[in-house]
Amino acid sequence: MFTNRKVLLLNASYEPLGTVTIPRAVRLVWTHTAEMIELDGDRVLRSIHHSFPCPSVIRLRQYIDVRKRRYAAGGLRFKIFLRDRNRCQYCGLRGTASEFTLDHILPKSRGGQSTPENLCTACIPCNQRKGDRTPDEARMPLLSNPSALWHDLDKMVLRNVAEARPEWRPYLFLGDEAKEEVA
Ligand SMILES: [Zn+2]
Repeated sequence: MFTNRKVLLLNASYEPLGTVTIPRAVRLVWTHTAEMIELDGDRVLRSIHHSFPCPSVIRLRQYIDVRKRRYAAGGLRFKIFLRDRNRCQYCGLRGTASEFTLDHILPKSRGGQSTPENLCTACIPCNQRKGDRTPDEARMPLLSNPSALWHDLDKMVLRNVAEARPEWRPYLFLGDEAKEEVA
């Protein structure tokens, strides 16, 4: 089976919202919550009584405002690591998730929030060195601009998944950017 394959979920506005599993996507289409936009080749999902063409891209019929709850759900840590491409944002060290911590750019003790624009991937030595200081105070400038990263968080995560799914690219506006990255 290929039930671990992902389906790209678009808002009614065609804005990418994220990915869902095939069974969930089929349920959304079946209940008319979403419509089929692209099929996943000729893959078919079969149950005892039905067979259903597998979706690759689906779109919600009703627009939902996701901005408020987008980061409330779990997985933020994982998304930040993906966004930062598993790289310490202070020294540039590459590694795996287990070697990193989430650093509050403006420390929590100074009122820093646990939001994507105030969180970055940091290796343990950098995290300890920085302590309760801002990057300026610690003279540890960030490799990337966190406000840019905030806007790109979900796009970066999707882009990572989409490397294997060319049919998603038109919906992720990847055309030109993808070419630049390859070059
Ligand atoms: Zn580091």
